[in-house]
Amino acid sequence: IQWEKQVRTSAQIHRSGGVSVLVTGATGFVGSHVSLALRKRGDGVVGLDNFNNYYDPSLKRARRSLLSSRGIFVVEGDLNDGKLLSKLFDVVAFTHVMHLAAQAGVRYALENPQSYVHSNIAGLVNLLEICKSANPQPAIVWASSSSVYGLNEKVPFSESDRTDQPASLYAATKKAGEEITHTYNHIYGLSITGLRFFTVYGPWGRPDMAYFSFTRNILQGKPITIYRGKNRVDLARDFTYIDDIVKGCLGSLDSSGKSTGSGGKKRGAAPYRIFNLGNTSPVTVPILVDILEKHLKVKAKRNFVEMPGNGDVPFTHANISSARNEFGYKPTTDLETGLKKFVRWYLSYYGYNTKAKLVH
Ligand code: NAD
Repeated sequence: IQWEKQVRTSAQIHRSGGVSVLVTGATGFVGSHVSLALRKRGDGVVGLDNFNNYYDPSLKRARRSLLSSRGIFVVEGDLNDGKLLSKLFDVVAFTHVMHLAAQAGVRYALENPQSYVHSNIAGLVNLLEICKSANPQPAIVWASSSSVYGLNEKVPFSESDRTDQPASLYAATKKAGEEITHTYNHIYGLSITGLRFFTVYGPWGRPDMAYFSFTRNILQGKPITIYRGKNRVDLARDFTYIDDIVKGCLGSLDSSGKSTGSGGKKRGAAPYRIFNLGNTSPVTVPILVDILEKHLKVKAKRNFVEMPGNGDVPFTHANISSARNEFGYKPTTDLETGLKKFVRWYLSYYGYNTKAKLVH
């Protein structure tokens, strides 16, 4: 009963025309930022997360404290727990689901393939099953990934480009997610918006990502491993700052349109959409390291290694005209500015002073 009360309070809407959103992966990197932004503008937000230990769960708990300080309640549970999800939908008539929970990361799949099936396939289907039967049916916005472009070499990547050559199990499960959500749109009239995020970075980020682990190693005086393609070609990524991604998430949610089915029945045509959310200006990894060195005021020990061919792709570059035309998506933070904000957060979170010296 205590739990239900907290969920109800957290789902309360504080503005006219507001929405009530279930955010899965709410104590993850993107999920925590999206939850805070929804709350800030007066929407009702309830989080769900299983606090898994893919990376340091203490970071997830710290994000949860931040959410809790803004009145956002996060239910601890798994996407595959049908009973728990049903109960949540019994307590709150969510208008939207922002589905950001997933097993992320590319290389982790080499040792833990089932984790991707569990969260990105089985967990997704379980969530869709609950949504299809909910009354009203929520509109769903969910995170796909730029990795679906896989070995596609035509840049920039447009939504209509081929996505049939995934280079990792992670990418394959995201691509499968796009097809699975399509069937739920087609059969049950669920409104679906898939967002292909391009390498998201920023404060409260993910410790497994290169910019984060490079920062850690540079500060500790340890070498960093930089992958290069064949013939020493540098890898490049369309690094996208978290605030831009959040704006894209909220913009796409606001334009997502209603589901048209109810209680599992299809009524009319609900939208099925896919958008790239990137920055449209790829930067090579060595230049990323140059910027980190500048902000940290410490030199990196660079160790170049040929890309081992275990999941990474050589480059990514988003064409964002669809998102721009549909909901005015316009990234505004360049890598230099965004990394400055990340470094400032990192130093303060991990107890460094402004000269990057550990305080304790
Ligand atoms: P993250 O790992 O920080 O967040 C995901 C959260 O989901 C975690 O807190 C995790 O505990 C939770 N979770 C995982 N499996 C779950 C399950 N079965 N049940 C309940 N909770 C579960 O990752 P992120 O960077 O915030 O990514 C958010 C979404 O965006 C993911 O779907 C990811 O695949 C996608 N994405 C991220 C990036 C990026 O660069 N960060 C790029 C492309 C796509």
